[in-house]
Amino acid sequence: MPYLGAHISISGGIYLAPQRARALGCTAMQIFSKNQRIWKSPPLNEKDISLFQKNCEIEKIRMVCVHTSYLINLGSPDKDKLKKSRESFLVELQRTKALHIPFLVFHPGSHMGDGEDRCLKKIAKSLDWVIENEQPQDVKILLETTAGQGTNVGYRFEHLRDIISYTKYPGHIGVCYDTCHTFAAGYDIRKRETYRNTFKLFDSVIGFEKLFIFHLNDSKKELGTRVDRHEHIGKGFIGEEGFRLLLHDRRFNIFPMILETPGGEENYTQNLKTLKKLLK
Ligand SMILES: [Zn+2]
Repeated sequence: MPYLGAHISISGGIYLAPQRARALGCTAMQIFSKNQRIWKSPPLNEKDISLFQKNCEIEKIRMVCVHTSYLINLGSPDKDKLKKSRESFLVELQRTKALHIPFLVFHPGSHMGDGEDRCLKKIAKSLDWVIENEQPQDVKILLETTAGQGTNVGYRFEHLRDIISYTKYPGHIGVCYDTCHTFAAGYDIRKRETYRNTFKLFDSVIGFEKLFIFHLNDSKKELGTRVDRHEHIGKGFIGEEGFRLLLHDRRFNIFPMILETPGGEENYTQNLKTLKKLLK
């Protein structure tokens, strides 16, 4: 059975997140390790770190991942913004390591008019810079599939494959598959056949050995619109069947599957209920 979870708030202290996740019925969770709307945050202290780990244990949260701040653009054509992004990403990696969390998820980046391939190469260079400044050790850095809104890259499986192949350290890089984003980008999973084709394509372009996490979100927008709007599970254009196929796919049996559905923590109860119904 997959580890079902949700993006959980860290307000009041990072060590409070495991209780919140458990109260919702999660066995996995995603968190920001700092305030995602600002560049700088005070460093984590030892007490918070050990309390966080203890609480994950007590609350039986088996899988945790960190999502980076949305301010970061590792593919930015702007020199200052790129420098700031790389430094900030480095701190994200350090915090993830300090918390003993095995996954750091991020949106690859935006080219801002500079062109996609240049952006993919820049992202790979940024990852090299980060890794050369901080050994990831047991942390996997995960590129998230995107909807391709605006100038975002990462909406084709080939983009993620290229970033991985452009870096000097492909062994440290993996992928997080967001169901809403990929659907909006044009990858259909609504019926058995389209589901099979999409994942066959994923495996042939990127490879399942690179896949570590799913973000489970339905989509407010139709297939291929390239607009990123999360919807409650079963209430969007993907619909329940797509999620049922995913939840029952033996290849993803022990994967963390994280909700990022709209409406804060209250919405998760209903969405987790839907997922558990689909799992039966
Ligand atoms: Zn996501």
